[in-house]
Amino acid sequence: MFEHITIIGIGLIGSSMARAIKRGKLATRLVVCDANEDALRIAKNLDIGDDYIHEAVEAVRDSDLVVLAVPMMAMESIVRDIAAHMKAGSILTDVGSVKECVITSLAPIIPDHVHLIPGHPVAGTENSGPNAGFASLFDGRWCILTPPIGADEQATNLLDQFWSHIGANVEIMDAAHHDRVLAITSHVPHLIAYNIVGTASDMEEITRSEVIKYSAGGFRDFTRIAASDPTMWRDVFLTNKDAVLEMLGRFSEDLTALQRAIRWGDGDALEALFTRTRDVRRRIIDAGQDEDTPDFGRTHED
Ligand code: NAP
Repeated sequence: MFEHITIIGIGLIGSSMARAIKRGKLATRLVVCDANEDALRIAKNLDIGDDYIHEAVEAVRDSDLVVLAVPMMAMESIVRDIAAHMKAGSILTDVGSVKECVITSLAPIIPDHVHLIPGHPVAGTENSGPNAGFASLFDGRWCILTPPIGADEQATNLLDQFWSHIGANVEIMDAAHHDRVLAITSHVPHLIAYNIVGTASDMEEITRSEVIKYSAGGFRDFTRIAASDPTMWRDVFLTNKDAVLEMLGRFSEDLTALQRAIRWGDGDALEALFTRTRDVRRRIIDAGQDEDTPDFGRTHED
């Protein structure tokens, strides 16, 4: 699809994309770039690219598609460095979990001859680094593109096709809307997981060993999410502040209503909610966004 692709940041997402690009033969030359020498060395050993370059300025030269797969707060300074070295007519995209800030921070600093089409593959795991990636990460998952107003239609279509070849279903969305949707489906759930795991580990009357020992009661499912990359998630909350605070406000109101139902023994209210939420799980499985196997597909010995 592209003569020359450059991926900056060869962690979980960047290395999964590199593997999928190789699998689908989507580039003649794939340049892998990372500020972290160890990550670059691991990527080279894994043979997931064609060239491995430490300096972003050098890595983007002659590239038709540049993908930023680094933490949100690292993007602007990289683009300040590479902007003047990007090929005319090339596409600059990213995979960041928040989208409006990408447009507001990057659009003013890229040259007119470069097409900025931000994107977000809604797929991931709690692991980081090049070893954590796998080619099928995006298969059947959604990738949301948020082209700014006036973005080049041909460039948007090309990126749409690219993500389809990577294995994803593509949706075009307004960046602000994306940030509100992801605040409730991804960012607030992560905050809740970080909070509950933090609260449990601070408990004085229940020992930490008991928290670990009896975690199968539900706690361990939160620990998977709460093990997600600290830098990435710090940046998500710093860059999607307004939408997260709005959704947290609604969450707190609903939590207060649940507290009241428990205090007054309102079993009907509790059961009505739990029945409704069970149906949400059913719909996620029906939509192919998770497996129907019990206990999130964990294997159990008889
Ligand atoms: P990751 O596994 O930590 O990989 C990021 C890589 O970028 C690391 O090797 C990091 O090096 C490197 N890096 C950091 N700053 C850099 C810079 N200035 N120049 C070049 N390389 C730099 O992260 P990830 O999970 O793939 O996340 C990358 C992006 O994908 C984030 O913006 C995140 O919001 C988005 N995303 C993540 C997920 C997910 O589930 N993880 C899902 C969808 C989207 P160091 O380790 O030395 O910092």
